[in-house]
Amino acid sequence: METLINNNKNQSVYDVIISGAGPVGLFLACELALTKCSVLILEKAENPHSLLKQLPFGIRGLSAPTIEALYRRGLLNELEIHKRLKNPHQNAGQGSRRQVGHFAGIPFHEGNIDTSQWTYRLPSSTETSLISEMEELETVLSRRAEALDVEIKRGLAVTGFHQTEDRVTVQSGDQSFKSKWLVGCDGSRSVVRKAGGFEFAGTEPEFTGYTTLVDIADPEKLSPGRNVTPTGIYLQSQPGYIVIQDFDGGAFHNAGKPITLQHVQEVLRRVSNTDVTISALHIATTWTDRARQATIYRNGHVLLAGDAAHIHSPLGGQGLNLGLCDAMNLGWKLAATIHNIAPSGLLDSYYTERHPVGVQVLDWSRAQVAIMRPGPDARALNAIIRDLMNTRDGATYIAGRVWGVLTHYNLGSDHPLVGHSVPNFEFKDGTRIGELMHDGHGILLNFDMNASLKTLASEYGDRMKYVSAQAKEQLGLSTVLIRPDGIIAWASESEPDEQLIRQAVALWFGR
Ligand SMILES: Cc1cc2nc3c(=O)[nH]c(=O)nc-3n(C[C@H](O)[C@H](O)[C@H](O)COP(=O)(O)OP(=O)(O)OC[C@H]3O[C@@H](n4cnc5c(N)ncnc54)[C@H](O)[C@@H]3O)c2cc1C
Repeated sequence: METLINNNKNQSVYDVIISGAGPVGLFLACELALTKCSVLILEKAENPHSLLKQLPFGIRGLSAPTIEALYRRGLLNELEIHKRLKNPHQNAGQGSRRQVGHFAGIPFHEGNIDTSQWTYRLPSSTETSLISEMEELETVLSRRAEALDVEIKRGLAVTGFHQTEDRVTVQSGDQSFKSKWLVGCDGSRSVVRKAGGFEFAGTEPEFTGYTTLVDIADPEKLSPGRNVTPTGIYLQSQPGYIVIQDFDGGAFHNAGKPITLQHVQEVLRRVSNTDVTISALHIATTWTDRARQATIYRNGHVLLAGDAAHIHSPLGGQGLNLGLCDAMNLGWKLAATIHNIAPSGLLDSYYTERHPVGVQVLDWSRAQVAIMRPGPDARALNAIIRDLMNTRDGATYIAGRVWGVLTHYNLGSDHPLVGHSVPNFEFKDGTRIGELMHDGHGILLNFDMNASLKTLASEYGDRMKYVSAQAKEQLGLSTVLIRPDGIIAWASESEPDEQLIRQAVALWFGR
């Protein structure tokens, strides 16, 4: 951290200020602090605890790339809740008919999924989907961030900022803070996005979603599980925990009116087509399927990540996953830029890699809404998708997308592994490659000892590890260059050409 003498006052200049201590801001802070960047997080809420972050409201599905990211930083084992609770979508059915996920509420089953199609996701020791709780996730990430000397100031909302060529002055009411970079991780209503003039393009909602915890006087009037009616959808996964989709064009959510018992009862009666009576409303929140994405993720020294960069309906649970993977992608690139060791274009690749993934997720959420609408057209399309999902190829494709197994970056290589997450190779001593990634360094993995590759890795000091060991399954590979975010940057089946591997290393790690 530098100290700036400003108007006779000493003021710290952080490498990065992050607006928002949600899961994305916290994880990004951990990634930056791993490489010794000084980080300040300004968080609007004074209290990190909230009923909305606790089960059942705070339930979040984690998909394969996120699970891998947490595992690779040694955080997965610190999360306990998934070890106690089963994914609600995975409880229904037995054996091969066991439901393991859904698309637009249409289940797909374990026995239909052909994991052998995912050649490069194997071998893996991590799950492809898990449930988590927002509060636990944030607690674990805050603890890690603080252990890495990240400063978190709670109760201080970012209200604006001003940037010059090399500094950002961040305003929080009458206080100001200085940094080299500012990252907006301040959620769907991001002040950083708005103050930074980022365009937020997309589509308007079709429904208001309600997540409620209620007491019902006559529970027998509602059916358990998911119910599609001529006017909407309601889901009762446990007594009193009710989720409703009311196709009002998002009008109620947009109006920002208080959510009263009378209103929830009126909506539930209409959608369920019953005269059910709610005797108490304990907690309720609304959401929509508005789908918008920032058209650029960087403006000068200001960046966006997580919900600040993209919003969509929570159907299929992808927002948190998208945001945490933004953070994993951005962290090492921004750190290298701050330490002046980034090759040209490295930071720009955050946008070129992550924006298309966001586009896909937004379209995926729109597609689900399109077949959930009340009405004959959507019902007909829904039936066709249901039939396709009952086939082996259909279920495998949907599961691959829902679990993020098919996500990869186009890094311009012909090799089918490049741009994919590295398989979790297990070495003869039982160690797995993912366990060697806790420090966030790159890895030059060589299944046959090669002295010149060892020399090459050593030229990058502690930014790159040389790992030479035989793995139990090597997928026919000889050498693999792994970025700090676990993505394969270069791979070769035969003894690598030294010039080519040097070029590949320089492309991602500089010269
Ligand atoms: C009902 C529901 C269910 C969902 N289920 C899933 C799921 O199963 N799987 C999944 O992947 N995603 C799911 N999501 C989406 C997921 O919760 C979000 O995508 C995720 O929380 C985004 O994280 P974030 O850190 O970007 O933003 P947030 O979690 O919104 O955190 C932003 C933080 O910034 C703070 N902040 C706001 N403004 C300011 C400011 N001006 N200054 C400083 N701090 C500020 C906020 O207080 C907050 O702490 C669901 C969402 C909803 C609504």
